[in-house]
Amino acid sequence: MKNIYIIGVGLIGGSLALEIKRLDPTVTIYGISRKESTLDEALALNLIDRKATIDDIPNADLVILSIPVDASVKLLPTLLDKISETGLVIDVGSTKEAICKVVENHPKRKHFLAMHPIAGTEYSGPKAAIYNLFQNKTNIICEEDKTDEALKNKVLDFFTAIGMKLRRMNPDSHDKHIAYVSHLSHISSFMLGKTVIEKEKNERDIFDMAGSGFASTVRLAKSSPEMWSPIFRQNKENVIESLEEYITNLTHFRDMMKEDDFEAIYNEMKNTNHIKDILNGII
Ligand code: NAP
Repeated sequence: MKNIYIIGVGLIGGSLALEIKRLDPTVTIYGISRKESTLDEALALNLIDRKATIDDIPNADLVILSIPVDASVKLLPTLLDKISETGLVIDVGSTKEAICKVVENHPKRKHFLAMHPIAGTEYSGPKAAIYNLFQNKTNIICEEDKTDEALKNKVLDFFTAIGMKLRRMNPDSHDKHIAYVSHLSHISSFMLGKTVIEKEKNERDIFDMAGSGFASTVRLAKSSPEMWSPIFRQNKENVIESLEEYITNLTHFRDMMKEDDFEAIYNEMKNTNHIKDILNGII
């Protein structure tokens, strides 16, 4: 795979570009984006070698689609129309049902592989691209049996080479589970940030008193709304379900406080400490 096109050279697309070049400096990486200025930035940061447009897709050995999930669903059918007989398109979006659905009957479906590398930071755009983002992280692969075997293997070998553990899951299970471990965490962080900002109008006070607990819990509230609102829209049902369960737990906690039931609160926290064993080896 010598000609690689990255559509969306931000945190994920840009970080993949760095790993591709590190493994094989002879590869040519082409960048495609909405804004010319974003491509200039990606060029200046050496994430891409050249600028390109969608019309160049027939020359691609590999296309990495790494833009907000609503834009990906719109663009993917056109990419498959244009991809050559030896090319492959992969998408790295945070939701998987809608993207798999939109090309389920596409005549070139076998030239597409859906995945979600579960790795990230709260930053976005070309400057957010970093080395080793994917090291020891999990990559969820969906519907791999619908992808051409030889094309798929080359790409999966690359993700293994950059240190990712591969897991297979169907798109609806992916979206259901990811609502809890990723989407709900972002909402919780955004709303914690909002609660504190509204209460503490004097930002200087927040700055002086915020400890590392607050900083780490509210970190995800720095994430890009442009990327996250399409995710919530696409995974609406699962996100609402997870939110309802979370709100029930918050309400229960508040009620225990009102009833001075601190023994119950102690036990609730003690039981939840089990998260240490669950996360051991992950974080
Ligand atoms: P990002 O840093 O904001 O980068 C996305 C880039 O896409 C932007 O630089 C933007 O450039 C470009 N873009 C936006 N809309 C476009 C369009 N319609 N056509 C072409 N380019 C467009 O976002 P990211 O965090 O890398 O996320 C990219 C994908 O990875 C998303 O699907 C996301 O769900 C998924 N993902 C994210 C994470 C995470 O933690 N952040 C983790 C795993 C997967 P312009 O300035 O030109 O608009």
